[in-house]
Amino acid sequence: MSGPAACQTPPEVLHQRGPHQMFCGLTGIVWLHRKIQDAFFLIVGSRTCAHLMQSAAGVMIFAEPRFATAILEERDLAGMADANEELDRVVGQLLERRPDVKMLFLVGSCPSEVIKLDLDRAAQRLSGQHGRPILSWSGSGLETTFTQGEDACLAALVPHLPALQEGEAPGLLVVGTLPDVVEDQFARLFEAMGLGPVRFFPGGRAEAQPPVGPGTRMLLAQPFLADTARLLEKRGAERLAAPYPFGEAGTTAWLKAAADAFGVEPGRFDAVTAPGRERARVALARHRERLDGKRIFFFPDSQLEIPLARFLSEELGMAPVEVGVPYLHRTLIAEDLARLPEGVVLSEGQDVEKQLDRCLAARPDLTVCGLGLANPLEAQGLSTKWSIELVFSPVHGYDQAGDLAELFARPLIRRGLLKV
Ligand code: SF4
Repeated sequence: MSGPAACQTPPEVLHQRGPHQMFCGLTGIVWLHRKIQDAFFLIVGSRTCAHLMQSAAGVMIFAEPRFATAILEERDLAGMADANEELDRVVGQLLERRPDVKMLFLVGSCPSEVIKLDLDRAAQRLSGQHGRPILSWSGSGLETTFTQGEDACLAALVPHLPALQEGEAPGLLVVGTLPDVVEDQFARLFEAMGLGPVRFFPGGRAEAQPPVGPGTRMLLAQPFLADTARLLEKRGAERLAAPYPFGEAGTTAWLKAAADAFGVEPGRFDAVTAPGRERARVALARHRERLDGKRIFFFPDSQLEIPLARFLSEELGMAPVEVGVPYLHRTLIAEDLARLPEGVVLSEGQDVEKQLDRCLAARPDLTVCGLGLANPLEAQGLSTKWSIELVFSPVHGYDQAGDLAELFARPLIRRGLLKV
């Protein structure tokens, strides 16, 4: 499918430092707890952290919870109580009551960082006492954005991945949390290509995490996993460069990177991917009519912004005005970056008032932003899309391409109806 001319030279980047509006890394627990099904996430935080998690994942009240918040009270914050002793007590109670928990994550927060509670050391101490892996990572909102929670969690897991056994094929490692249905679709495509073994990280069980070692080829499914990728490389894995698997073209290029690395015959690759490509093309055509030529503005939030801007411009004819990203990891998004149209403004970081001014001046047809900015922008007559929805919905791969396009088309349809 043709699209606007791609960038010949990398676009200028507007670096912004100032007040920003983004969810913190704790939010990642909402999808991570669904993926690693026998792990427990214990947030060491404040009532604010507990409220955030409760509202982000309220559905958990109907299930056996697999995350909770150990609340740091004023006495802890004032240094009057020994927070380590309190933590040991809470962890002991939790693991005694829940022997089904096979792996525990202690998740740091702004308050635990402020009082300099050393959760790494606590995790080591408690692992020895309880005879099961206890790891720690930080979801603090001081320096992170919400998808970095996943990066921090997976980076904490990497040193605990098993090594490849003698004679074990290193294979392909798909890195990043994907819904099970999407993982199954990709697994079937790779199998039909005769490519393998294919493993997914994170694995669905604490004790079934994939091995890694020299010769492992890794394919990132999410663009926000810089620390995880770096640590996997340290363990010998080699990253395959590819655009991210959004839409028909993105998914094909992503699969092709793996197929080429494993010597899959081009004819076989085409035969295996043809039905999916066709389904995606048909699904996208339905939305192209509505989205073609529409101008879109991204506030920095999910770190999916650049691959999504690539998808929307290349496959649906949209015109990105500004693409804001919390952090620009150039090497991890190089292939998507190179396919952005000429003239797009890239911004890294945020100075929210200035960015709001730019957005209001540009009057885009659609603005992708966090929840906190959506209502004020709607009140100014702009159509918005919540970026967090793009992370919570299955959007990767051929069979989700139409749904992904629909997420962007829906606000425009709604505004059209309201006008009528
Ligand atoms: Fe708020 Fe920080 Fe807790 Fe996140 S970690 S909910 S930003 S206090």
